[in-house]
Amino acid sequence: MAMPDTGAGTLYIDGKWRHAAAGRTFPVTNPATSEVLAQISAAETQDVREAVAAAESAFPGWAARTAYERAGYLHEAHRLMLERAEDLARLMTTEQGKPLRTARIEVQYAADFLIWFAEEAKRVYGQTIPSSRADQRFMVLHQPVGVVGAVTPWNYPISMLTRKIGPALAAGCTVVLKPAQQTPLCAVEVFRILHEVGVPAGVVNLVTADRARIVGDEFLSNPAVRKLTFTGSTEVGKRLAEGAARQIKRVSLELGGHAPFIVFPDADPAHAARGAALVKFLNTGQACICPNRIYVHRSVADRFLEVLRDRVGRLKAGNGLEEGVTIGPLIDEGALAKMDEHVTDAIGKGATVTLGGERLTGEKYDAGTFFAPTVLTDVTPEMLIYREETFGPIAPVVLFDDEDEVIKMANDTNYGLASYIYTNDLSRALRVSEALRFAMVGINDINPTSAAAPFGGVKESGLGREGGQEGIAEYLDTKLIGISIGQAGPVAPRG
Ligand code: NAP
Repeated sequence: MAMPDTGAGTLYIDGKWRHAAAGRTFPVTNPATSEVLAQISAAETQDVREAVAAAESAFPGWAARTAYERAGYLHEAHRLMLERAEDLARLMTTEQGKPLRTARIEVQYAADFLIWFAEEAKRVYGQTIPSSRADQRFMVLHQPVGVVGAVTPWNYPISMLTRKIGPALAAGCTVVLKPAQQTPLCAVEVFRILHEVGVPAGVVNLVTADRARIVGDEFLSNPAVRKLTFTGSTEVGKRLAEGAARQIKRVSLELGGHAPFIVFPDADPAHAARGAALVKFLNTGQACICPNRIYVHRSVADRFLEVLRDRVGRLKAGNGLEEGVTIGPLIDEGALAKMDEHVTDAIGKGATVTLGGERLTGEKYDAGTFFAPTVLTDVTPEMLIYREETFGPIAPVVLFDDEDEVIKMANDTNYGLASYIYTNDLSRALRVSEALRFAMVGINDINPTSAAAPFGGVKESGLGREGGQEGIAEYLDTKLIGISIGQAGPVAPRG
């Protein structure tokens, strides 16, 4: 497929495409083939500062537009994104590696955020509050927080952008966004759409960069940036949250996960295994909601493992553009090294590799970063894979004997994003859902996500929510107005 034209540069600042001021570029490659796809402008501090200045001067005008006007741009962007869905999906597969069918689903999901928040823009309601004073009225308004610095990861290179840009624009904020260095082309195409639908200059700005810290530092130190929204690793999220505290900036953090997937004895183990195979290997295991510990009740383990092995064994690895490929490459060599580390450590501590376990080699795979879909059994809490987010195609299976024990094991982590339970007992489903210290629970359901539903984490998986009614609130400040309607003199303040 033809690559997007990057000849004018990939920074989009104040409504114009341009090169980085220092003229530096960096390459973006296809993880399935190592082919260099394009050269990308590498922003330096000066570029980021100009982008923030553009967003700051566009803010008052954008915030003053009616919600209906702002929604109009988002509706148009939604329409154009769907019109270009096939090209966007192909680009995503080429740049990020996921199979074309999954890339198409992501483009639809990304567009959903644009239309959802176009509608939510019109529902930013205020409140009136009764006062204890007869001559007083209280009114509560919600106003846009101002300039937003947004940082996004490579694993969902379009939907993670619209999940931030959609609510920010709907609320009346302006944005400077830094995409992951592995997937800037998808970001360029999203911004082309926003440009083409006529979003005014300065309202959205894109800074592609290969030195993320330069961008992060400017977002943190520039007082014009009033909010930081970040999706990525817990490690970087913590660093950004610490930095944001220095100017008391608002933060939203969507961080790592370590999802438990629990199969109770009353569940259908074959159905649960089919679910586990789908959600564990989603995006080659590179999704924050992928299970990282699969707990199976001993009484149904044989049947569960039989079906899991069968399903995982049928996955077809390869270049996601090829017909029939169901699992793509990992994002880079670093990710491959992590898979090796987790498997070697687990084997050394007594785990059994029942499928896969190594890098895929051969003509089809050598140029890319492919790892065999893997199932590990006899996994124990001492192993790295039991503690660290693997972010790859390895399914670690742990057996359990009773409900209290498995809840304790599932909660024994600093993460708290997604969790899954399989059971046909209604009371157990509710009891366990309430006991799990995770922000999202799928009950016999591997996809508890939607633009209409709040997505996010507790504990070290994050702060704030994206999507749903909550998603727009992250971009709004609350203002209280107290009004005296009395004709007598002023009342003494209460403090
Ligand atoms: P990452 O290393 O934290 O990178 C994420 C983004 O942060 C990239 O754009 C990266 O830029 C940037 N970044 C790194 N250091 C920075 C700094 N000092 N200042 C500003 N930006 C900085 O994470 P990743 O490995 O790419 O992504 C995978 C992680 O994201 C996983 O932990 C996954 O669970 C999490 N994730 C969470 C969600 C969620 O909603 N909770 C969704 C998707 C992914 P560069 O690309 O230039 O390094």
